[in-house]
Amino acid sequence: MTRPMPAQVVARAEELFDVEHRASNTPMSASEMRSALALYDGMMPTLGDRFSAEIFAEFGRPRCRMLANFGVGVDHIDVAAAADHGVTVTNTPGAVTDATADIAMTLLLMSARRAAEGERLVRSGQWQGWHPTQFLGLHVSGKTVGIIGMGRIGEAIARRCHHGFGMEVLYTNRSEKAVDFPAHQVSLEELARRSDFIVIAVPGGPETMYLIGADFLAAMQEHAHLINIARGNVVDETALTEALREGRIGGAGLDVYEFEPEVPEALRGLSNVTLLPHLGTAALEVRTGMGMMALGNLQAFFAGETPPNRV
Ligand code: NAP
Repeated sequence: MTRPMPAQVVARAEELFDVEHRASNTPMSASEMRSALALYDGMMPTLGDRFSAEIFAEFGRPRCRMLANFGVGVDHIDVAAAADHGVTVTNTPGAVTDATADIAMTLLLMSARRAAEGERLVRSGQWQGWHPTQFLGLHVSGKTVGIIGMGRIGEAIARRCHHGFGMEVLYTNRSEKAVDFPAHQVSLEELARRSDFIVIAVPGGPETMYLIGADFLAAMQEHAHLINIARGNVVDETALTEALREGRIGGAGLDVYEFEPEVPEALRGLSNVTLLPHLGTAALEVRTGMGMMALGNLQAFFAGETPPNRV
């Protein structure tokens, strides 16, 4: 197990397998990944463990035959290279959906209503009391939301926006996608132009790298907010910082960053951006569920079955 895990996950893992625990919370180094591939039959890697083609390259068939990723996003693993070396990769879809949609709504509301700015003011001891024109943000109910990537999480966000906030829902998706509530699939350009709030929920990786760049930001309305709970490099962070600095968009709410965990000073210095430390799935029962799902994949694989969440 490549990180300390919730107690129930540790207990279950020890019931099932002969387990070694890595004590650090930092991503594995290249040499740790290589030795782990040689030492263990299966592994539970996670975000930041960059299993690139070079990591697998020195092995024909490594001892490790299974990477049961803890998390749904597998953009840090070269899945094709893993397959070439006989390594199966799984993830934990579904277990993360509601919690991540909730964090998207947290960011949307915080950004719209300037909650982080307000919280900083109260903490500073400088708040001088309520007045009618203080911290005027953007009203959320009834606005138009644009969802980029109508997958499990995108749809959960759209449902919250429609049922909870009476919002009109626009979305883009790689393929045609129908949903059972009012929502319109549109082009990326139309979504940028018409939305008051835009939420990014596509997977990371080469296909979506910089999907949101200067052109997209220029097409957004001046009062509109951009929320990213997907992966940092889906957004050109430099272009976003410029747009925020020049007040060309209303605000942004970010859970993920291009060079995570580094967040540039230029971004940290802006008051119209809300910054969270990748909290999408950070709730004990959710992380426990993710761990159990990863263990279920390992268990199925070593029982000779096809693991349920093969990528
Ligand atoms: P999912 O069900 O696979 O949904 C992804 C959706 O994005 C799919 O509908 C897919 O379309 C669409 N898509 C892919 N490429 C696209 C493109 N270029 N343009 C438009 N749409 C595109 O995945 P999910 O479970 O919702 O998770 C989405 C991502 O959220 C994960 O990959 C992960 O990186 C991120 N995430 C972040 C956190 C966090 O802590 N912040 C937590 C969990 C997940 P198709 O229908 O054509 O496949």
